[in-house]
Amino acid sequence: MATATVQIDPQVQRFLDAPRKMLIGNRWVEAVSGKTFPVYNPATGEQMARVAQGEAKDIDLAVKSARKAFQQGPWRKITPSERGRMMWKLADLLEANLEEFAMLESLDNGKPLTVARGADVPLAIDMFRYMAGWTTKIEGNTIPISVPYTPGAQYLAYTQREPVGVAGQIIPWNFPLLMAAWKLAPALAMGCTVILKPAEQTPLTALRLGELILEAGFPEGVVNIVPGYGEAGAALAAHPDVDKVAFTGSTEVGKLVLQAAGGNLKKVTLELGGKSPNVVFRDADVNAAIDGAASAIFFNQGQCCCAGSRLYVEHDIFDRVVEGVADRASKIRIRPGLDPESDMGPLVSQEQLERVCGYLESGLAQGAKAISGGKRSGSSGYFVQPTILVDAPHDAKVMQEEIFGPVVTATPFRDMEELVPHANDSVYGLAAGIWTSDLGKAHRLAAELHAGTVWINCYNIFDAALPFGGYKQSGWGREMGHDALELYTQKKAVCIRIG
Ligand code: NAP
Ligand code: MG
Repeated sequence: MATATVQIDPQVQRFLDAPRKMLIGNRWVEAVSGKTFPVYNPATGEQMARVAQGEAKDIDLAVKSARKAFQQGPWRKITPSERGRMMWKLADLLEANLEEFAMLESLDNGKPLTVARGADVPLAIDMFRYMAGWTTKIEGNTIPISVPYTPGAQYLAYTQREPVGVAGQIIPWNFPLLMAAWKLAPALAMGCTVILKPAEQTPLTALRLGELILEAGFPEGVVNIVPGYGEAGAALAAHPDVDKVAFTGSTEVGKLVLQAAGGNLKKVTLELGGKSPNVVFRDADVNAAIDGAASAIFFNQGQCCCAGSRLYVEHDIFDRVVEGVADRASKIRIRPGLDPESDMGPLVSQEQLERVCGYLESGLAQGAKAISGGKRSGSSGYFVQPTILVDAPHDAKVMQEEIFGPVVTATPFRDMEELVPHANDSVYGLAAGIWTSDLGKAHRLAAELHAGTVWINCYNIFDAALPFGGYKQSGWGREMGHDALELYTQKKAVCIRIG
């Protein structure tokens, strides 16, 4: 494999070389146990950093710190406008260090540097700015009330939104910095305090962000960052003094989080897996649809919860579209993320490599044919060939389960009546794509699909203002937009007798 990678920036190298600690009460501390865990470079499989390993005891300290900051700290008294300025400053700091974050993200997750630089970091910056603007715009209502059993009495009644309190946030490895931003920004905007648990595979950009959070002036204990394995996440989800848990990751772990949260009935939001249908009609701009179908599944090595992993194509253009996607796949340059020519990096870990290859083997064994790809790429690092499978039986695992790799199944359909039940036949309901030039048909199908997001003649379009989240087992609640804010507040009704 060609490895003309760019040099690691000395500042990034220094960050990798020093033992990385956890952030509790605005101080960088070691784990109570003194344990650390390794972080690997997925392009080589080599260890590149060591990070403090948070466990239940560390989570407990972080929760105490967040509780103190919420109840007694200056955070409670800071005006919404000041809160917004702090968030804006954090966004500015992130922007000033964009190159460093992009490189760290590429090294940690494996994604192409060009993608981290062009999408992940700018979207994270934008998220903090968007949410910073909301701090001064959260209003309640005045409500005319009648109270039939107190005739003649007069009342003034109003509502206000208050922060939900201490929020535990558990994030995955596919967009490590961006997921941290999606979680932190609405919580901070609403005045909550936070314990963030990054994924064990990719803790680095969250920890670097912690340094900027201190620089931006957030008071002690407002943001605590505890890296560690799943047990740290489990301790956070179960903690009796956490008011809300927000989780992004697998549906399987999402269900565990929900159970754990039941102990103190903390509020729960979940952003889980997907198996999203991407539908191409014969009246579409077929070349645009081919490009869109390829990037819907191959972007980020297919490690997107909303990946367009089930491609449905109107039967008379099926071969043309499948060949087109296979052609795009053959042109994808599979290289380490730091190679400036990389279009596709490695998967995040050995575990994911094995998981995705396992799905490929099971798909082929269950009757699917690989039109392109179908196996691992190279023998070092966690690279997988972009793959398009046809003829997979409807009940095959590759048709039903989330693969989380660069693997798409393609299926022909005759008409909407045949398509809709197939497209909706999934436990998931995160996203869907439609490619057509018939506006009426596009809107009719958008209404029929069970999905939290429908993209028409585009795919993977995200904006801080646009709510994102799942139907069915793809989750509870929404990220981004003002919907996300409401999930970090609770509404109080106040009633005053005035006459
Ligand atoms: P995962 O286990 O669901 O991990 C997501 C986060 O939850 C990580 O921070 C993880 O910590 C933590 N966690 C693990 N066990 C926990 C528990 N019992 N309680 C609370 N938190 C816990 O995801 P994964 O194992 O890394 O990936 C498996 C599959 O999940 C993927 O193949 C994909 O299908 C899906 N996934 C979906 C998304 C998405 O964006 N929707 C993102 C990533 C993965 P550790 O990192 O230490 O395990
Ligand atoms: Mg895991």
